[in-house]
Amino acid sequence: MAVSIRNLAIRQQVSLVALPPILALMVTIGLSFYIYLTAQRIETVTRNAEESVAEEQFLLRRLAEMYLDARIYVRTGRQAMLTAYRAGERDFMAGIENLKILEQENPRHVADANRIHDNLLAWEASWVTPNFSRVRRGQTIQDAEILDEGEMAMAPFRSALEQLIHEDENESRQSALASQRLLNRIVVLGVGVALFLAGTLFFLTRLVTRFISEPVRLLIQASERVSRGDFQPQLPPAAKNEFGRLSESFSRMTAALRLDREEMAALNRFFEAVSQCASEAEIHEHILHSLEERFRPKQIIIFQMNSMEKYLEAVASLLPLPKDLEAWPVINEPHDCKAVRMGRHFVVNDATREPLCAANFAAPSAGSYYCSALIAGGIIIGAVRMEGAAGAWTPEREVLAESYVSGAASALSNLRFLERMKEQANVDELTNLYNRRFLEEYAHKQLAMASRKEKPLGVIMMDLDHFKEFNDVYGHEVGDRILREFSKTVTHAMRETNLAARYGGEEFVVLLPDTDLASCLLVAERIRKAVQKMVVPSGTDKPLPVITVSLGIAVYPEHAKTFEELIHSSDKALYDSKRAGRNRVSVYMAPAETAGL
Ligand code: GH3
Ligand code: MG
Ligand code: MG
Repeated sequence: MAVSIRNLAIRQQVSLVALPPILALMVTIGLSFYIYLTAQRIETVTRNAEESVAEEQFLLRRLAEMYLDARIYVRTGRQAMLTAYRAGERDFMAGIENLKILEQENPRHVADANRIHDNLLAWEASWVTPNFSRVRRGQTIQDAEILDEGEMAMAPFRSALEQLIHEDENESRQSALASQRLLNRIVVLGVGVALFLAGTLFFLTRLVTRFISEPVRLLIQASERVSRGDFQPQLPPAAKNEFGRLSESFSRMTAALRLDREEMAALNRFFEAVSQCASEAEIHEHILHSLEERFRPKQIIIFQMNSMEKYLEAVASLLPLPKDLEAWPVINEPHDCKAVRMGRHFVVNDATREPLCAANFAAPSAGSYYCSALIAGGIIIGAVRMEGAAGAWTPEREVLAESYVSGAASALSNLRFLERMKEQANVDELTNLYNRRFLEEYAHKQLAMASRKEKPLGVIMMDLDHFKEFNDVYGHEVGDRILREFSKTVTHAMRETNLAARYGGEEFVVLLPDTDLASCLLVAERIRKAVQKMVVPSGTDKPLPVITVSLGIAVYPEHAKTFEELIHSSDKALYDSKRAGRNRVSVYMAPAETAGL
């Protein structure tokens, strides 16, 4: 029983509790009706019995009066007595009729009344009528014997009447007793029904309350545990009612929450991992690994936008790219890529039926694919494509994939930004040449290598001639322009392995690893001549005068052993060039040599 009540719907459980009071109410109404009818019947019987007794007593009195009236009449012949007798006789007959009506429910009493009536007629026939006839004929009767005969002849039905009175009085008493018994029964029944009702109600209410409050308590407890991060709380036992359904949906919701949380944790791990990567290749590896783990695709391709934004290059893939693409894995027109064009992701859920992206780069011929642009700070830096089974892309998976892609994009862009920052810290903003700090760092490494390999290392120090005048005459901006143009000229005039740096305001240094003095001289001379040919717009009608530069050379290990000494020596050579008339190249000469000259 307990199990079946537990499975009832809440409405049915509450109805069950309401059922006993309703039943009890109905029983009470029925009982009241029965009591009412019974009381009514008892009252009628009692009243009839009482009225019958009164009527019968009246008949008894009337009978006695009739006999006296008749006796006086037959003895005296007084007419008034006859009249009185007749009136009494009429009253008696009417009384008999009344009695029959009152006793109509008691056939035996009705028969008794009829017999009394017949007895009266018989008495009249036997005593009244013959004696009245004698009076009418003028004879009065004085014989006491005859007169008493009349009374004696009346005795039987008089006692019948008395018997009737006795019975009716008895009936009235019985009725009163029945009424008392009924009252007792009502009290007993009322108390019984009330006790039964209270017991049933108590039992059912306790049962149903337990079935309702227990699951509610467990569900509250469960939701509190879920809110604290415990995704396996105790739930109410399985039931086929609302609580059962609530439990099921609660555990489905908890499972979904648990999944969401696991996904969030995986996503966070991915964000953390990619943000700590030191190279783009490492980030690509993480993207491939995480997307494969989470989405189980057949293929993943990561594209990178070329810096000049002229093409998209496939830089990493889960499976090797087709042979014909390996040599040149590039989408020549980035706008052919739908994700790049739209600046967001798109999905082809069935490659056999839906139109494919115009880029069509190693596009799958069946199944589905998801493509998304890698966007950081509003700039498209690449794209990611994942291929899977047909119809694999639900909106939830798309949203999740988008989170991975945007996390990857920001990690890539952060890395690039960091690299640029690092580079910027080493590069002079005006001339785009390396700065003095970097030169010093780099030169120390190169010098160490030169010493290890026993190779020469050249340093050319340069200073523009009369530069102050250019500034003063044409303005600082033209001065800056000359410095930029000079830097480009120097870069073009030297080898790739050489390194040019801005050493001071308009002083520059070229570091020439693995270069001996003769080669340094060639380079220096090439620079000098190229500078002389430099054409820099003056910004006015008047062209600028020819720009020249003075240069000084020092070579390791001939002229110096340390970088500081090399700089010092080359600067000294430069000073020699200045002193000798500018626009020339000088090689460092030791003080002894100078002295010897
Ligand atoms: P000299 O032939 O002896 O070298 O003569 P000079 O006029 O070039 O003399 P000096 O080398 O002392 O002059 C340096 C000038 O370079 C002073 C300064 O105004 C200018 N200068 C330094 N840095 C910059 C710069 O970044 N931009 C511009 N426009 N001028 C600079
Ligand atoms: Mg100078
Ligand atoms: Mg100068």
